[in-house]
Amino acid sequence: MGADNNKLRLIPAIDRLLTVVAAEPELNSYPRDLVIACLRKVTDNARAVLMQGDDAEVSPEALVASAKYLLDKQTRLSLRRLINATGVVLHTNLGRAPLGSRARASVADIMEGYSTLEYNVDLGARGSRYAHVSESLRQLTGAEDVLVVNNNAAAVLLVLSALAKGREVIVSRGELVEIGGSFRIPDVLKQSGATLVEVGTTNKTHLYDYEQAITPNTAAILKVHTSNYCLIGFTSQPDGAELAALAHKHNLPVIEDLGSGTLMPLTVGGQTEPAVTERLALGFDIITFSGDKLLGAGQAGIIAGKAKFVAMMKKHPLLRAIRIDKLSLAALEGTLLEYILGDPCSNIPVLAMLNRTEAELKKQANLLLELITQYGRAGLAAEIVALNSPAGGGALPAAVLPGYGVAVSLAGMSASKLESCLRQQLVPIVARIQDDRVIFDVRCLVEADLSEIAAVLCAIS
Ligand SMILES: *Cc1c(COP(=O)(O)O)cnc(C)c1O
Repeated sequence: MGADNNKLRLIPAIDRLLTVVAAEPELNSYPRDLVIACLRKVTDNARAVLMQGDDAEVSPEALVASAKYLLDKQTRLSLRRLINATGVVLHTNLGRAPLGSRARASVADIMEGYSTLEYNVDLGARGSRYAHVSESLRQLTGAEDVLVVNNNAAAVLLVLSALAKGREVIVSRGELVEIGGSFRIPDVLKQSGATLVEVGTTNKTHLYDYEQAITPNTAAILKVHTSNYCLIGFTSQPDGAELAALAHKHNLPVIEDLGSGTLMPLTVGGQTEPAVTERLALGFDIITFSGDKLLGAGQAGIIAGKAKFVAMMKKHPLLRAIRIDKLSLAALEGTLLEYILGDPCSNIPVLAMLNRTEAELKKQANLLLELITQYGRAGLAAEIVALNSPAGGGALPAAVLPGYGVAVSLAGMSASKLESCLRQQLVPIVARIQDDRVIFDVRCLVEADLSEIAAVLCAIS
């Protein structure tokens, strides 16, 4: 079949389409160049379709409607809120930790105007951005000194650059991890200018493996917390205190990349995550961890430890390139205040969600089921299901969090089609598929999300 030449001729000129646009106030508010570009796109597209021998709607009204759809899509924010129905509390793709109310208020306040970011009000002179959180972080970690940078990957890079450039760093083969997003310990070490000295085996590393690897060119021993995987079975690693004692005997610092550091001992879903305080007490000289994992703030990398080492990082030229921005700093300070005020488990969303009881989750799943069935949509089947979810985001890899959700299927629509419709909503709803049904895990949902999910489900066609 060839192109329909008659129909090709019917494609209206842009000027003709602009007269239709002129009658629509909503479209008139867009810049003219943008409207014309979209009209060109839809007419070009219609032409291409017809040339292929397929049919296309070419009325001015239809073309303008398509252009309007394109305009909406192009001018909608790409980075936007979504509903996390996966049950994974620290979902790296979904922005990790949602902020608590004090952190949100602080961010809103700071982004609106000028701030004390680098201004000391007592002296009326230049101050330090790092000063805002140093006192509370020292108090909460027990460290002599602290420094905050853009994220934990940057923190590790800075620590190694400042303490080990041109020298050797000893790491166990069981800890040469990849975190994702191409953050691999061997690569970060190389980037810092240090040389990696691998010791031990994947499953077992002994204290003597470390000791035998120490040379006059050794700069530090690095321990990497297995924050996103577990080694189980015939495995062993020297404990932190032994490693610290060995390093100190040889006058070396011992560093730990803790990944998802928590500011208090945390046992969730059968797994315990060590608190930063405990690790420092074992003798680690420097510990690094993320701000937006279990701590529950925004993106940040925290370096805590001995003052003489932190001082070297404060002087390092890399610090300026990886410094934390004021909004993340505001989120961090607001979150730390929740710890200081004594009820972090209620007021920091990440901790609250990880600690939700099965009874609470079941009640919320029932509420969601009720809302969904209220609409009485034909062909929709929904029931409560018991679920297990991981904590996610490089934290508590072995934790199994029992919870509840609602499983939904829609007659005449596959689970994958339904799942894709849900995530293409203006406020995307991200759910998973299990046994040919779409599962809404309620762990990370707030009450407003429940009615939104129910309304979207009943409107989907
Ligand atoms: C998550 C993680 C990192 C990276 O932290 P970001 O804050 O995402 O940069 C580094 N090391 C370990 C062990 C981690 O778990």
